[in-house]
Amino acid sequence: MRKAIGVDLGGSHVTAGIVAEDGAILGQFEQDIEDRSFDAVVAALETVVGNALKDGKAQDAIGIGVGSPGNIEPSSGMVLYSPNFLWTDVPLGERLRKQFDMPVFVANDARCATLGEYAFGSGKDTQDFVLLTIGTGIGGGIVSGGRLLIGNRAGAGEIGHHQIRPRDGFICGCGKIGCFEAQASGTGLIRHAFAVAPSFPRSNLLDRERDKLGSKMIRRAAQAGDAHAVAAWKNFAADLALGLANVIAFVNPEMIALGGGVSTAGDFMLDSVRDRVDELTTMVPKGTTKLAIAKLGNDAGQVGSATMVFRGGLTTGRS
Ligand SMILES: [Zn+2]
Repeated sequence: MRKAIGVDLGGSHVTAGIVAEDGAILGQFEQDIEDRSFDAVVAALETVVGNALKDGKAQDAIGIGVGSPGNIEPSSGMVLYSPNFLWTDVPLGERLRKQFDMPVFVANDARCATLGEYAFGSGKDTQDFVLLTIGTGIGGGIVSGGRLLIGNRAGAGEIGHHQIRPRDGFICGCGKIGCFEAQASGTGLIRHAFAVAPSFPRSNLLDRERDKLGSKMIRRAAQAGDAHAVAAWKNFAADLALGLANVIAFVNPEMIALGGGVSTAGDFMLDSVRDRVDELTTMVPKGTTKLAIAKLGNDAGQVGSATMVFRGGLTTGRS
């Protein structure tokens, strides 16, 4: 069976998987990223991909696929713009091709994860599918009629940056106010907890250093019935439901799968949004889009970027 190296490039670390064509991960290698300059990130990528290629299980690997944050020119693998890394026009694909002398494909990380989840995870038996990766931000990808939507300049699927609270929302990393990502990501949940804090003067929910505050901690406190956390969670869930209903109105997929760190909340998260999503679904027949938790977890990016190598590009190949 053919194999490829599938790389998931994140803001704090990079993971390379040796992936077989049936979606199985045969080995994984990880490297921390401390310096986000282009040269430092390329060095980390070269280390982790080099280690993967040296492994016996990667023998005869046919190429390297990389999922990176940002807007990426598909044929060259040039990252045109990545706010996470503060990059503009960096030749990521070209640098890796020179280093490894094998085919290299680069695409947006969330679109790669969507391809992986569609081909081997929760989207497997669907034709119309959306993946939302809810972590620090919200990434997205849309499969419609069996085809992954790319858009005119690889911008289709930027669901995290449609505004849902343009008047009173939080400021997004992209500069706009009240983007879906700013309101309904893990970061959004933490911000909701701060926003409602004045109503809970005796709460100790946020009594810790800012960098130690996690969305998981707030979610767990909400599950345990902490009043402050419950209020934050309610506002978070209301915003998440709003965005999900918008996605349903745009593409009425058979399934929206929620992945990323925040989705480990599982049924608690789905149960918090289901009724509201139904209420906000007006012209699309209610209940025709299933909400589910993604199956591949953190592996979706690696599996998807390797699948891109097998298919010679970011294509579902099922149209
Ligand atoms: Zn935004």
